Amino acid sequence: MSANAAQLSDLTIQTGHELYPDFSPTTYDYSCYVHFDCCEVRVYPQTPDKSMQTAVNDASFSEPVMLNVGETVVIIKVTSADGANTQVYTINVTREPVPLAVMFCDVRDQMEYECPISLSALYKPVSIHQSEPKIIFSAPYIDMLTRRSKVDPFTERPLGEGWKVLESELDRRMSNAPVKCFFSYRGCRKQMRYAEIGAHAKDCRYKPSSDLDSVEVTETNWYRKYVASSSNLEIMTDHTLEIRNWEKRLQTAFGEHDVDSLIAHAEEHFKLYKKRLPNPGDMMQYDPGQSPLDDLEQAAIHYATAIKVKPHDAELHFRLGQTLEEHYYATEMYGLKKETQEDDQDLGQAKYAGRQEEILAICRLHGFPGTLTTENQLKALDMEIQDLKQQGQSAKADYVQTLFLWLSKKAGKDGSSVVSDEKCWLFRALLKYLDACSLNADSWEYNLHLGRLLLLQGTSNEALQHLQTALGLQPCQPAIRFYTGLALLQQKEMTVTCEHEVVLWLQQGLENIMAQFFASHYYKEREQLDTGHDWSVMNAQFLRGCLSLAALLSKNSFSDLTMSPEQVYHMYVTQTNTLNLCNTISGLAAQGISRCVNQGEVLQQLEWVLLDAHFALLQGLIQQEGDGKQPWIVKRCQAITALIRLSSIGPCRELLDLQEKVCQMGVLVVPRCSRALCLLGLAQLAQSDSHSAAERGQAALANACLSFQASIELEGSHQTGEPPEQLTKQTWWKDHLDAEKDKKVKHETPEPKPAVESSEAPADGKKLARSRGAPARGIATSIAKTSAPTRVNRTATAAKHMPQLARSRAGGHLVTKSDGAGKAAGNSSIKAQTSPCKSRQQQSPLQDKPTSEVKVGKQDNDSTVLTALNEKSYVPRLGLARALARTTDSQKQACHFYQEVIDMAPEVHDAYIELASLLLKDDALAAVDVYSRFPLKPVCEQTFDDAFITGEIVHILMKHELYEHPQLLPNLVAHGKVMGLGCLEKYIGALEGRLMTNLLRRVYAGIHDKSEDDEELQDFFRFKCWI
Ligand SMILES: [Zn+2]
Repeated sequence: MSANAAQLSDLTIQTGHELYPDFSPTTYDYSCYVHFDCCEVRVYPQTPDKSMQTAVNDASFSEPVMLNVGETVVIIKVTSADGANTQVYTINVTREPVPLAVMFCDVRDQMEYECPISLSALYKPVSIHQSEPKIIFSAPYIDMLTRRSKVDPFTERPLGEGWKVLESELDRRMSNAPVKCFFSYRGCRKQMRYAEIGAHAKDCRYKPSSDLDSVEVTETNWYRKYVASSSNLEIMTDHTLEIRNWEKRLQTAFGEHDVDSLIAHAEEHFKLYKKRLPNPGDMMQYDPGQSPLDDLEQAAIHYATAIKVKPHDAELHFRLGQTLEEHYYATEMYGLKKETQEDDQDLGQAKYAGRQEEILAICRLHGFPGTLTTENQLKALDMEIQDLKQQGQSAKADYVQTLFLWLSKKAGKDGSSVVSDEKCWLFRALLKYLDACSLNADSWEYNLHLGRLLLLQGTSNEALQHLQTALGLQPCQPAIRFYTGLALLQQKEMTVTCEHEVVLWLQQGLENIMAQFFASHYYKEREQLDTGHDWSVMNAQFLRGCLSLAALLSKNSFSDLTMSPEQVYHMYVTQTNTLNLCNTISGLAAQGISRCVNQGEVLQQLEWVLLDAHFALLQGLIQQEGDGKQPWIVKRCQAITALIRLSSIGPCRELLDLQEKVCQMGVLVVPRCSRALCLLGLAQLAQSDSHSAAERGQAALANACLSFQASIELEGSHQTGEPPEQLTKQTWWKDHLDAEKDKKVKHETPEPKPAVESSEAPADGKKLARSRGAPARGIATSIAKTSAPTRVNRTATAAKHMPQLARSRAGGHLVTKSDGAGKAAGNSSIKAQTSPCKSRQQQSPLQDKPTSEVKVGKQDNDSTVLTALNEKSYVPRLGLARALARTTDSQKQACHFYQEVIDMAPEVHDAYIELASLLLKDDALAAVDVYSRFPLKPVCEQTFDDAFITGEIVHILMKHELYEHPQLLPNLVAHGKVMGLGCLEKYIGALEGRLMTNLLRRVYAGIHDKSEDDEELQDFFRFKCWI
């Protein structure tokens, strides 16, 4: 070694951790993943020569490096023997996120370090470049959201290159902030740095024990009555064992008659399946026979064949059931599908776009404006059918009838006739569990799984019988207790003692899962834990149960050792770690093929859980005492609105109502905040779209205009002062004021209630809406989803297929009920209720103390939001333009605001597209002029979004036969280059017909980047007779 060489000969990190990639002296950047309880790492650099100097983070390497919560960069510097040269190696150490939500000791920390998406402490904090105000997100969640739509979730601004700014300084600060122990609710008083909480929790003596006390079960009434007296639960299940056709098709494992070896094969395949499951970000391409689904199918085949040999072996039936249930998750969560099905889908999607376009054309014909709900689309189609029939055009009417059927089938309106494969899997699994149970009624496992699936199907009576049987057999099993608690919760009558049982058992189930987090230390183990879907944090049924627990806890104060409702909500909101995982997987799964994403119902259920939790937390925050919360509330309102906008949940009434309610809450807190008013306007506009012609739709449209106008008017002014006039004119605002007044008159200590209640939609309607997936997401979709090159795609999301059966939000009954009761009763009557029991039900789950309320126009001295100036933004103008464009009278004004948007934010495609389509009716050239103003990048950098614009220009000019127009040539070239020559085919044909050979030659030359004199091209032109 020469004296000026600076190089390491080896680099290791303390035992148990590995560097990626493997060390090589000339590789300078490494990464390393560690468990969340790891607080520090030691790094051991070795030099080939003793005289070289090394330093780790500018210190002697013998000292350990303290780790941040998220990422820590370790810099190893090696200096040559003569001191002339240095070389730097870096290790990026990433800590796994702590699985539970932390509570900071200081509420200011809690506010500052809250990720707006997960509502728990930030993890790997990042901000968006030049966003104003600066909002910090956890990296995994902002990644998830921006994968769906490449916009800033809060402002909807398109994101440029390098938008992500790492906030490592904040990570360091946050890591040192004091937090409370996860188990403070169980009595632990210890406080520590955030960075140390994982390590503490592992050894905390207050950690819930995994051993449950059987007395809690054996002392219950039902146990004494049924199990202890050995009179056994009579289960009224009428079930006969039979081999069904689909099972026969599975019994195809050849040459094997030995049950043991069939089982061994099945197990082998099941293991392989788990191993092959895609990770987030994987491209899901498998060679034939190599997909995880193939393994799963093989496992099913082997079990089914074993059943053929030994039809009365209950365990075999049970295992087949598990395999089939897994099939459901494989398709729903990982987007795995059989090849043949995928081909069909591709074909389907090509047709889909065409049909959707036809439907939209018919809608325009019948005067339905804007983003259309399925309902309105169906209405328009129906009108068209009637018209055609009257005109005697029966053939055409028949065709439109097929469109009608297709659309209604797609929307799942005709109910039972659409049973998707996914549903089949769950149903088949249920049948197999039933078979197993009928063969052996004394197995707690069969009864547990049967009960669980029955509960999912909404048959809670039968479910309870099986779960109680299981519990009688195995009183200390936490999963059985949890699901029994859920089943009890769904019984019609619940006694007080029973309620205590429910709380205890739900909580024990939750704590069991919590304890598991701190029990297993290796990634591998945890992964396996997460993919066992029946008992994991990825299970929406489980999370729904936790929501119910939170609602119950807020209703009653049980013992000191129960968790506070906040804790329960926060706790499972952190499960978005895993929610994010399945988001990512299902999102990426379909992305490769098309942008009409196949997002499964599991994901949607989890998203509902997240939204409901967000909403409950927002209500809780609003109702808490204390000043200075406005900025926090505003941030949460914006976050939940962003989540709704970017969610994969199909358009439905309940989502729109939630969005509107949240926006109203935001405005109530800060009535002069431009941004809050704008969001409210967007929500109102979406409502008006979904109601369209109806009176309510008109009112919503008028409100939307008012809200946008207020938002624009308040730009540049302070957020303190009287609420704007445009707001006080709105009915809901007046209603709210009246309600507040009423409350003060009638009660000295006002009954708590959710801050805003829409007085419409009775409880049943609400539940129905969600389970049906009623149409309409409205403007929310059209704003956020700007990435598709055709307009059709954008609206297509409004007509998503919504499966019905398993939409059930197991365990959500209580929450729904309390919401619904409030709604049905209307605003004023809520307060008139006197029965203490009833009014309790109407509390928001989070609210303990019936003390505070939102005061309209309440002013605070120290809050930053109120002293802040309202920013100027194009968003309310775009919203106002859209609202105005809905009515013919105000379309001129709409044009004006579209122009303003284009001036303020020239990069926003939507404004050009919508303005041009407004102008197109009367003045095609004006529309072309609008499109031509779009600042197109050089052709080689143009995206599909840009191609939409060039395509429209070409389309309009060609349609009006304006072949000499100067915009035609450049846009033909640009469009052809991005979309391919095939897209120009019909135009080329038309131009040939007109003998526009000069233009054609230039187009071809332009697309091929060649000069017209190019020899090859010349040959081609001669062949085409263009010269
Ligand atoms: Zn502790």
